[in-house]
This record gives sequence, structure tokens and C-alpha cells, in this order.
Amino acid sequence: MNVFWNNRIMRLSPYIAGEQPRNANIVKLNANENPYPPSPKVIEAIKKAAAGDRLRLYPDSACTVLREAAAERYKVLPEQVFAGNGSDEALAFAFGAFFQTEPADEPVLFPDITYSFYPVYANLWGVPFKEIPLRDDFSINVSDYYEAVNGVIFPNPNAPTGIALSARDVLCVSKHCAEKNKTLIVDEAYQAFGAESVVPFINENPGLLTVHTLSKSASLAGLRAGFAIGQRHLIEALERIRDSFNSYTVDAIAQAAAAAALLDISYYDEINRRVIETRERTAVELAALGFKNLPSSANFIFTTPPSPLNAPRLFTLLRENGILVRYFDKPRTKDFLRVSIGLGSDMDRFLEVCAAAVKNAGCA
Ligand SMILES: *Cc1c(COP(=O)(O)O)cnc(C)c1O
Repeated sequence: MNVFWNNRIMRLSPYIAGEQPRNANIVKLNANENPYPPSPKVIEAIKKAAAGDRLRLYPDSACTVLREAAAERYKVLPEQVFAGNGSDEALAFAFGAFFQTEPADEPVLFPDITYSFYPVYANLWGVPFKEIPLRDDFSINVSDYYEAVNGVIFPNPNAPTGIALSARDVLCVSKHCAEKNKTLIVDEAYQAFGAESVVPFINENPGLLTVHTLSKSASLAGLRAGFAIGQRHLIEALERIRDSFNSYTVDAIAQAAAAAALLDISYYDEINRRVIETRERTAVELAALGFKNLPSSANFIFTTPPSPLNAPRLFTLLRENGILVRYFDKPRTKDFLRVSIGLGSDMDRFLEVCAAAVKNAGCA
């Protein structure tokens, strides 16, 4: 609280990001970063973009090379792509572009357990919203969203559950939204780790916007690049917001690096195949220790330790052993830890501490 703040700032409750420790010896399983380095072609592209006097000039405000690369990769047109400073920016702009904000407006719908940035964006723009409870098994019941009259947003796979919907189910929601000229935003941040994308269906779905990030599957969280795909009228709305705010949200280095990453499909298929393999092995070993895992299609596992051990105690124990995971202290998530998938050796260290904790707690 500060007397210099306006009322809008006073009312905000900003997002809290996963901690970035300075100590390099930490096993960092708390922000869903990719444990493998970005493609060597990305590093080459960054060097080239920074060479000589190149950074003297403003970047291409149209982000042409990035949009062309995304278009080639996803088999859409470059004008169906919006590039943002991380997908968080594309998401923030989408909240401002597609959801109505009058107090009398109906709420935007999203799950009660989902990416915790959504309510923050809604509050920032003054968008009314309603959180729809996931089923008891933590899956999304798509028919809960059919009556939405101010749009819908969810990640697929959902976060932090990791549970994916089929493209068919997602498209059912899209169809109902389009009937009311409303937008369904599908946040495909973790799609590469095992969910079906709905990008191939955008041409038949005028209200469908997909959002993508290079932070997770392309190992580029430090770069800040993301994008959205949808029909031209949706992309134009995002451009209108951006150009009312900052013409150059994606810098020249990020544009070149993201384009190179999007085109190096074989490199990323290989590292993400390894992440999936490590996830499956970790899930099996956790289950053998008595943990209950939700079925993950992402690069993390949402898991409940066996009693009398519990999530906050294990969180602290892991931390004392130099391993960071994420804990969300909310009624429906307080029994879970979200564990990002690291290198095989990271997961071995993690599982070792878990096994010792289970043994010391005298779990049945
Ligand atoms: C990590 C994450 C993002 C943010 O991605 P950036 O491109 O790094 O901004 C968006 N949505 C979900 C669901 C995420 O988990």
C-alpha cells in the first residue's frame, strides 16, 4: 500500500514466479524449465544477430522471421501468428483483446486449478471470471464450459495437473464459444510433452486462439519468446494491443533465436523424447514408493506423498537437500508437489531423498 498508487494498482495481486536460486549446485525442479541446452543452431543465430553493428537498429516490429518459422513449423500462414515477449505476454494481450470488461459482463471461465497467471491477468484488465472446479480426478469436464458467454481459457495439458484433453474435446468447447462469437484460448505451453495440438483446426474455428512458448519445449526460458496462432482477425486484435503499448516487445536476438529453434525440429524432438522417458521412469519409481501421481502429459509430475509424510514436509526436506520443487498452498492442491522433470541424474537425487523421507516417516 502506498499513497502514490492508484486504485487499480492497490487492488492487484501479482503472480509469484518459481524461485531462481543463485547457488548453481541446486537441483532445480520448480519452474518446468527444460534440463537440456537449446539447439546449437540457436546459439549460432544469437551470435549472428548480435554481430557487428546489428543491434544499432530497432528490431523488425513485424517479427517476420519468427512468424515465418512458426508458420512453417505449424503449417499455418505467417499472418496467423502473433509473436510475444514470452507466451505470458501473448496471454496478457489476449485477455485484453477478447474478453469483455464491464462490471455487468458475464465471467470468463477457467478451471479452479490451472495456471495461476490467468486470474492475475483478469484482475489487471478488470475482466470478470469464474473458476470452474475440475472433476474429483482433477480432469477438465469440457461440457462445464459450453455455456460460456465471455470466453474460456485453459492450458492443454493443464498445469499444474499435467492432465491432457483430446483435441476432439477441446474443439467441442471451441464450437460452443464460436456460436456466441467468443474466444477459446488454449495455452499449449506443454503440448510437446504429450498432448494433441488444436493448431490444425484453426481454419474451421474462428474463435480459437492457441498460445505457445519457447520456454519449456525449446529450452529458452531465459530468452523470452512465445507466440499465438489463430485466424487473422484474432491476430490483428493482439497486434492492436501491442501497438498501443510497445512496438518492439520481441528483441532482435529473441526473434532470430526463436526462429532457429522452431526450425530445428529433430533436435527438440530428441531432447523432449528424453524428458518424456525420464518422466515415465520417475512416475514408476514414485508410485513404487507409495506416491499417488496424476497422469502427466507435461514435463512435470503432480504427486502426493504417502502419509504420514505430507507435501509441505517433503517440500522442506527436499529443500534442505538442495532440491527445489513447487508447492501450491491452496485447498485443492495442498496435498501435492509439482516436480519438474530434470536430467536422469537430477531425478535420481530427487528420488533418493524421497525414498529416505518415506522410510524415516514410517509410511505404510
Ligand atoms: C510456463 C507457462 C507459460 C509461460 O511461458 P513464457 O513463454 O515463459 O511466458 C504459459 N502458460 C503456462 C501454462 C505455463 O506453464
